[in-house]
Amino acid sequence: MPATGKTPSGGWANTGQLWTSAELAPTIEHMLSDQPELYRGLNYPWGRKVNPAPGIPEKIAEGVYWLRIPMPISLDHINLWLLEEEDGWTIVDTCLDLPQSREIWEQVFSEFMGDKPVLRVICTHLHPDHVGLAGWITERFGCQLWMSREEFLMCRAMAGDTGREAPEVAIRFYRAAGYTDEQLDKYRRKFGGFGRMISPLPDSFRRLVDGETFRINNRYWQVIVGSGHSPEHVALYCPALKLLISGDQVLPKITPNVSVFPTEPEGDPLKEWLRSNGRIRDNLPDDLLVLPAHEAPFYGLHVRLTQLIETHERDLDKLFEHLAEPKRAVDCFPALFKREITDAVLGMATGETLAHLNCLLGRRRVRCNRDEHGVDWYEQKPEISAFD
Ligand SMILES: [Zn+2]
Repeated sequence: MPATGKTPSGGWANTGQLWTSAELAPTIEHMLSDQPELYRGLNYPWGRKVNPAPGIPEKIAEGVYWLRIPMPISLDHINLWLLEEEDGWTIVDTCLDLPQSREIWEQVFSEFMGDKPVLRVICTHLHPDHVGLAGWITERFGCQLWMSREEFLMCRAMAGDTGREAPEVAIRFYRAAGYTDEQLDKYRRKFGGFGRMISPLPDSFRRLVDGETFRINNRYWQVIVGSGHSPEHVALYCPALKLLISGDQVLPKITPNVSVFPTEPEGDPLKEWLRSNGRIRDNLPDDLLVLPAHEAPFYGLHVRLTQLIETHERDLDKLFEHLAEPKRAVDCFPALFKREITDAVLGMATGETLAHLNCLLGRRRVRCNRDEHGVDWYEQKPEISAFD
């Protein structure tokens, strides 16, 4: 698809502010390349490896700015979005609560936002890289946090686990998946870390509901709820600007993690993920510039949603084939992951594997038996495998 919807780079909102500085100006002007790049069915108007300078917002469309903040984890950055109005700013997502991310925000508040306050903070979902500084920013500006209800409540519940011991049901859950005693000990030691990555959420919030619209800077934005990566994930669609702030629901390269957790062992988040991505593909036009929380903005929403759906459908088939003989969840990694699963990614890999197993159970393609040691063994239903 040609990059016809592309907006030129440059054109800063607060040109009377520090951005007129002679040292900064040339860097800013050339930060976004004008070289569109086609890669695996998607069109990246600024190239797929574009990497805006940390803390220096880049104009994406009229009143919409892209802020990238680095993170000291394997996913090494997050994209945040700043929406400008006459009397202030809306922030979409906030980064982890770390001294260096607070420092970057301080710089953005004083140098970029100038004398206009933050009017509201919107969080797409509860993961710490998105919600980390929401409490800090809303308190600082005395403004509201806008979030879907399930994300807000789940986030507060998870933060409430901070400092608690791992519950026995969680230990049973991972033992059933095939963890060794040593792996269970590691899980116990890591439990309750969520709250340490975020500043405390406010005590009340403004609920975002699927399909509702609100106005920012005289333009309508519509709430598009998806589920599977997190319970009630909010993406924001602006028809006038042909933009979709997609959060983690649609990422161009990474397949967002879809996991089953001990809090809801029989959940089927993969079913919800497949269903909600199909629904977004049916309901949103294809010619939107997608602004993802990680990696680069791109065109090709429908192609990407189809890729995300098909990837999981293929994985479900591979997993089913793998279950000709009974297997534990931890024996299923080779069917789903190319890389070796080390302890660092064991939790995520287990959650994702259980999501696929629960989906196959929901489709009545496999069955599961718990042995006398409390370990679950999954295998094809004979009558399904005999079907041609
Ligand atoms: Zn996420």
